[in-house]
Amino acid sequence: MPLLVHKLQQGHTDMAGCLDCHLQAGVSQEAVSACLQELEEERFAFLAEWYDPSAALLRRYQLLFYPRDDSVEMFDMKNQRTFLRRTKYDELHLEDLFVGNRINVFSRQLNLIGYGDQYTANKLGSKKERTLAMIKPDAVTKVGDIIQLIYEANLIITKAKMTKLTWKQAADFYTEHQSKSFFNNLLQFVTSGPVIAMELMGDEAVSVWRKLLGPTDSSVARKEVVSSLRAQFGTDGTRNAAHGSDSLASAARELEFFFPSTAGHGPPNTAKYTDSTCCVIKPHAISETLTGKILGSIIDAGFEITALQMINMDRANAEEFFEVYKGVVTEYTGMVAELCSGPCMALEIHASDAARAFRQFCGPADPEIARHLRPSTLRALYGKNKVQNAVHCTDLPEDSVLEVQYFFKILDG
Ligand code: GDP
Ligand code: MG
Repeated sequence: MPLLVHKLQQGHTDMAGCLDCHLQAGVSQEAVSACLQELEEERFAFLAEWYDPSAALLRRYQLLFYPRDDSVEMFDMKNQRTFLRRTKYDELHLEDLFVGNRINVFSRQLNLIGYGDQYTANKLGSKKERTLAMIKPDAVTKVGDIIQLIYEANLIITKAKMTKLTWKQAADFYTEHQSKSFFNNLLQFVTSGPVIAMELMGDEAVSVWRKLLGPTDSSVARKEVVSSLRAQFGTDGTRNAAHGSDSLASAARELEFFFPSTAGHGPPNTAKYTDSTCCVIKPHAISETLTGKILGSIIDAGFEITALQMINMDRANAEEFFEVYKGVVTEYTGMVAELCSGPCMALEIHASDAARAFRQFCGPADPEIARHLRPSTLRALYGKNKVQNAVHCTDLPEDSVLEVQYFFKILDG
């Protein structure tokens, strides 16, 4: 891309400098117009990091995104050279581009660690917030519908974990209410079964999620905001389906409670390792916002989800997990690349004869075949191809517990 290189070499950041320079150098009017168009074009800049497993190095890039044609361009910062020429890449969307998010560019997982210029920070960064959502015990079986509503509100889920709070943990979490008359009832309720904690991220996430929840009392919600989550899935003043942080400060405290950033582990997962099998919702399905629909289908088919966690697999983990397929399945390399291309969601599925029953429900590994032979299976409904087939499930019943342990004991150790 000679014009861009020229522009960078000359350090031109405005149209006039570029125009003069090109005309003086005898560049054609056509080329000058192209250059002008480039300068006027909206462009977002980020600082991105990629862990290069073969060199065991963290590499840093400047990543540029051009919304006009959804193209990306990358510069290697250390070596000061173009790493990826401007290329159209339809799978990247503007709403995925904010600091803190992990994106996938041509099978590389990049962490966006900073904004590359003030324009990008102002335009894309200023309203991004994180908040804590907690699905309470009465609505855990509605997780599919709830996640679907979260996506429809333009929020994304960056962390998720099913846990069961002890009395003490619940008292810590709700410490602000310890003097209230409803405190004991509240603790009784939130410790009565598993909860699902999630970190949500997006524009004004704190207030968007509170608005989605609706009024605290579900019977009030049913009168005042019929479409709200508490109106749809809650029962009364205590049993009201879900929790949402009420401010940025509460969000920071409550996220730290469930997903500690430094020492400690947070409340433990709920895996049981009996009568269960393993399911992994693959990264492509998560980024296509199919998570809610897939969880809903699993529950509607009569399976119980007894553990759930969102996990970022690195390549070594993905290779280890798929080890048995190496040299056996031609898609092995693709399967590994897919599994570590972004966050996945590991599930423990509980049922009688869990491994066989759940494997049947996932359907043939190839979604095309599944759509012909078993159109109501998960892969027929949500898969794209043999590698991006929406879900992994344990193949051999004797491996079920091992696979559940891999996610919930080893990776979440
Ligand atoms: P929230 O932020 O909308 O969840 O409401 P609060 O922070 O005021 O209360 C925390 C939780 O305590 C609520 O979600 C309810 O589960 C419960 N709760 C709040 N107020 C009452 C009440 O007046 N009576 C009863 N029984 N429970 C309440
Ligand atoms: Mg509150």
